[in-house]
Amino acid sequence: MTGLSDSFQRPINYLRISVTDRCNLRCLYCMPPQGITLLPRSEILRYEEIQAVAQTAAALGITKVRLTGGEPLVRSELPHLIRMLSEIEGIDDISLTTNGVLLRRYAASLKEAGLGRVNVSLDTLNRGRFQRITRHDKLGDVLDGIEAAREAGLEPVKLNMVVMRGMNDDEVLDFARLTIEQGWHVRFIETMPFGRGERLDFVPAAEIKERLLSLGPLEPSLPSHSNGPARYFRFSGAKGTIGFISPLSEHFCFNCNRLRLTVDGTLRPCLLSDEEVDLKGPLWKGASPQELSRLIQQAVAAKPERHRLREGVLPKGRAMCQLGG
Ligand code: SAM
Ligand code: SF4
Repeated sequence: MTGLSDSFQRPINYLRISVTDRCNLRCLYCMPPQGITLLPRSEILRYEEIQAVAQTAAALGITKVRLTGGEPLVRSELPHLIRMLSEIEGIDDISLTTNGVLLRRYAASLKEAGLGRVNVSLDTLNRGRFQRITRHDKLGDVLDGIEAAREAGLEPVKLNMVVMRGMNDDEVLDFARLTIEQGWHVRFIETMPFGRGERLDFVPAAEIKERLLSLGPLEPSLPSHSNGPARYFRFSGAKGTIGFISPLSEHFCFNCNRLRLTVDGTLRPCLLSDEEVDLKGPLWKGASPQELSRLIQQAVAAKPERHRLREGVLPKGRAMCQLGG
């Protein structure tokens, strides 16, 4: 194993894989209510192709893989893919980002297949508001899914809350309290003006942090896994942690350790830049592991130093559901 690093000496050890562009919710900031053109199934990487990419990436130094989407649990037989990935030498951490709606159904089989942990996206604890944000009445299923993930040992379960001014920002204290009372791990994410979602006002991480001080001082906390963009804190004595992902108000790119595999088989060096390296074409033409390896290294070399959201440079090419966040 050689270890991958990009042109800015950042170690790259993490691959996020979008396994589907389909979803059973329609979050305001991610998708329009209708009119999304889904890719035909023939354009989406098959599990064997994903495995081939992951295997070559692991030989280069990727050790962590996260499955995302769209909603990864709507793709059939996801535990089968997890088993295939868990057999790859060098991959020691497999995780999943999900909206949680189907977690009760799949948690045990995901764990059994080799999944380590899950992040569940949850923006509100209020049923009516959940329906407004996701356009579906599924809060009960998500809360039950979180419980199922815990019971199955898919821990730590982290909750991702996209904070939108005037929509759910009055709930940040309720979420923060749960890190003390219930040991939840909560990450507050700034809404990004991205793809086909509605443009919603983000709340800067510093403002959220300020509001949280009414519950007590926050002390820095080391992340349980990887570095990546989140910065972690906890209240004194709390079992759970609080993370901030602040792409807009603070640059987090100096810590970036990731590549993304899109649903239709391109490698994307940066979420927030449209540059991509095609792998599907070469895979369909029977690319050798050496050829795949060269293309993965090409994508790593193309990672920009930082995104340019604050300068108004927005990625235009794809919806978030094809990229996986
Ligand atoms: N469907 C799964 C879910 O919701 O967790 C996985 C895919 S989703 C695209 C991955 C993450 O991206 C979620 O945590 C979601 O909240 C976040 N996300 C989607 N659109 C976003 C946006 N415009 N700004 C910030 N985060 C966004
Ligand atoms: Fe679906 Fe996740 Fe996008 Fe919400 S954020 S619409 S759950 S893919």
